[in-house]
Amino acid sequence: MPLKTYWLEHAWLGTHVEPGVALEVTAEGRIGALRTGVETPPPGAEVLRGLTVPGLANAHSHAFHRALRGTVQVGSGTFWTWRDQMYKVAQNLTPESYFALARAVYAEMALAGITNVGEFHYVHHAPGGARYADPNAMGEALIEAAAAAGIRITLLDTAYLSAGFGEAPNSHQLRFSDGTAEAWAERASALRPREHALIGAAIHSVRAVPAAELATVAGWADERRAPLHVHLSEQTAENDACLAAHGRTPTQLLADHGVLGPRTTGVHNTHLTDTDVALLGGTTTGTCMCPTTERDLADGIGPATRLQHAGSPLSLGSDSHAVIDLLEEARAMELNERLRSRTRGHWTANALLTAATEDGHAALGLPDAGRLEVGALADFTTIALDSVRTAGPPARLGAETAVFAATASDVRHTVVGGRHVVRDGAHTLVEDVPSALAESIAALRA
Ligand SMILES: [Zn+2]
Repeated sequence: MPLKTYWLEHAWLGTHVEPGVALEVTAEGRIGALRTGVETPPPGAEVLRGLTVPGLANAHSHAFHRALRGTVQVGSGTFWTWRDQMYKVAQNLTPESYFALARAVYAEMALAGITNVGEFHYVHHAPGGARYADPNAMGEALIEAAAAAGIRITLLDTAYLSAGFGEAPNSHQLRFSDGTAEAWAERASALRPREHALIGAAIHSVRAVPAAELATVAGWADERRAPLHVHLSEQTAENDACLAAHGRTPTQLLADHGVLGPRTTGVHNTHLTDTDVALLGGTTTGTCMCPTTERDLADGIGPATRLQHAGSPLSLGSDSHAVIDLLEEARAMELNERLRSRTRGHWTANALLTAATEDGHAALGLPDAGRLEVGALADFTTIALDSVRTAGPPARLGAETAVFAATASDVRHTVVGGRHVVRDGAHTLVEDVPSALAESIAALRA
């Protein structure tokens, strides 16, 4: 007996758009049955008009960066001057204010069709580095915020121990540091997964974790078969400093210390040598591209096509939340490559949607999500095909329309574990998401 039946006017099934699909949800929140050729809604079914796709996976997020939106667009500078502004916001976070902000940000994500967020979390301690009574108070606030916003979270608890190669953390970074990788592992081990939350690990970057400590973090993740993420070669300055300190590239350094592998994802992977690309691809290490952030921070364009051809699966993230729109991330990856190569069609719409769904979930430790198929988690989102942006193309080209023309504003429904979190464009748990964002961001500025 299904808990609930949805009738999907059109469903993207990975390779094509299928009209008229009945989807049954089990009591466990999984897809129990999927019937095609169902021309009219079965009695009692909830009707989802538009194109239903698997839930979108936001594989790279720093929730508090949402407080920087707009304010960091005044003036000029580089990644490094942007980082100074970001550190100022980080200083004001408390477990309470971070819960309020993250709940609002994750609600914005639900409204954008995102059903799972990979939160790359490094603001662990109080300003100056004092431990909270619960040393995981900040991480717990993020886990609770995801529950309050109705989405899943993979908390990628991040080791951040140094300011640079051989440099102690600066005053801002004292909040991020556990002192040693051993101490990081002890704290992270106290985090417990929940029904909506997985625990993974992250190495902030080769700048922030000394080479001798990389294997401790990698070993922790390996023991738990947990996802392990790492910011990799986003800036050429990181490559130069790593070459100066260790005589090898960041990718080579990670390879030498056992960090690469199929459960590892390099975030950005922007400035790579041919050897780096071969190492990442050859170890099936994933690549998370964050095109709207990479363009916002003037990082450069990473070699995503070459990485994928070498064997690196691609996922997508909104990272600094300059915008939160996974459809925009997907098309930006393709459009960046068009600008660089002056040719079109590096990825099909199906391939871009796969990065935003199935491969994004796999990068976050959820291989049983991101597909509309029996047994998978009942996480999906419906994109309007009759909005001012999406009206016109035939429904069989729904994937192309969704990826190349729709925006987050076209998300009509979001369902997580069979539960309707966004209905007709409105969040069902957070009544007024814009006010929740405005108030929680204003509180940080006060
Ligand atoms: Zn990041």
